[in-house]
Amino acid sequence: MAKVLIPTPLRQFTGRQDAVTAPGATVGEVLASLTAQFPELRKQIFTDEGKVRNFVNVYLNDEDVRYLSRDATATADADTISLVPSIAGGSGAATADATLTKDEILRYSRHLIIPEVGIEGQEKLKAAKVLLVGAGGLGAPLGLYLAAAGIGRIGVVDFDVVDFTNLQRQVIHSTSDVGRKKLVSASEKMRAINPNVTVVPHDVALTSENALDILKDYDIVIDGTDNFPTRYLVNDACVLLGKPNVYGSIFRFEGQASVFAYQGGPCYRCLYPEPPPPGLVPSCAEGGVLGILPGTIGLIQATEAVKLILGIGEPLVGRLLLYDALGMRFRELKLRKNPECPICGDHRTITKLIDYNQFCGVPAQTQPAQESKLSEGEIDVIEVKRKIDRGENFVLVDVREPHEYRICNIPGAILIPLGEVAKRVAELDPEADIVVHCKSGVRSAKACGVLRGAGFKHVRNMKGGILAWSDKVDSSVPKY
Ligand code: ZN
Repeated sequence: MAKVLIPTPLRQFTGRQDAVTAPGATVGEVLASLTAQFPELRKQIFTDEGKVRNFVNVYLNDEDVRYLSRDATATADADTISLVPSIAGGSGAATADATLTKDEILRYSRHLIIPEVGIEGQEKLKAAKVLLVGAGGLGAPLGLYLAAAGIGRIGVVDFDVVDFTNLQRQVIHSTSDVGRKKLVSASEKMRAINPNVTVVPHDVALTSENALDILKDYDIVIDGTDNFPTRYLVNDACVLLGKPNVYGSIFRFEGQASVFAYQGGPCYRCLYPEPPPPGLVPSCAEGGVLGILPGTIGLIQATEAVKLILGIGEPLVGRLLLYDALGMRFRELKLRKNPECPICGDHRTITKLIDYNQFCGVPAQTQPAQESKLSEGEIDVIEVKRKIDRGENFVLVDVREPHEYRICNIPGAILIPLGEVAKRVAELDPEADIVVHCKSGVRSAKACGVLRGAGFKHVRNMKGGILAWSDKVDSSVPKY
């Protein structure tokens, strides 16, 4: 008599029991009496000749019976016999310890009839644990399709709220979700598509303090971030934990994708050892993005994640895929592991997570500063309105782009795009009272610096830009 532990894939043949006692003086006798109780199980673990199939290992307590006396190994009542099916496929990212229900077999039938997927592959997907960092542009298609594809456990890290301007591309959120947590909205959509999926919400900003703890429970991490500090944080945490990092990034009409830190391949730092200086690469909020683009790139990331889980195909490792939507072209660059890489190279200088805001030269996230006091060299929109109403002699300079000026503008403002300020300073009087504005106040702050550097004495930045103007002065001015 011995207790036999039944692994998840085989429980469908034992009436869902995870452990069964069966009589016998040897391992062979125990398995014979076990499979006499459950004839369907016999077909699974024995060949027609009565030998244990190759993909099943039999353990007596801690020992593989192949290294004991095989079927003839003697058993005692206190012994535990384990059936351990081996898992084919090269990913190692997931183990197929999940079986499909009848409903799932029907749901995934178009997967099951692909030889490269099949039942075994779909079970790997069900057993897989994937983390999405971000529920925004890239996270939207990723969340929808990974849920539909039957990834068993999908973690989502996001602390943001759905904004009206997100709806043009973040298709996981609806118009009625504006103002709600992205995490809540995304989880609802994913569960609605596939209730078999476990969605694990992480309602936090990913930080050096929590990243390792969150990432460690997942097989694959998908980088859907929109900022450099988090991108380097995700990369470093993946390298330190040995997790593949499925990377994607988007800007206007162009996207990139790759798979980093997988089976000795290069990491994001091998590609980009250092971030660009703050402000050099505009964010999507500043520079814009074609609404469809994150769909294209996000689904490339989803495809790579599924391939890694299934262990099929050729992963996007050591290759940087570039997508140009305007030219409708894909290009591929070779990526090599950099021996000098500070985190995955031969002489590693980074052995734990660092301060990524400092590394990327951006100020740490502060609380929303809507009503914060004006800083040196700033002027409030209300005061600018008063100056206009009083007919004061001052110059209002708009440093946005012409296509933004056409969306909305403040009457009387002179348009000088930020990139032209330095060469057009001669158009302005260095002694004049000058107020500079842009969309939100970031570009105009830079323009103020340029003007002060050129000897202008009375330059102030309109805090909050034309967005604040719309909020506090003239609500008929559209926000964009
Ligand atoms: Zn590296």
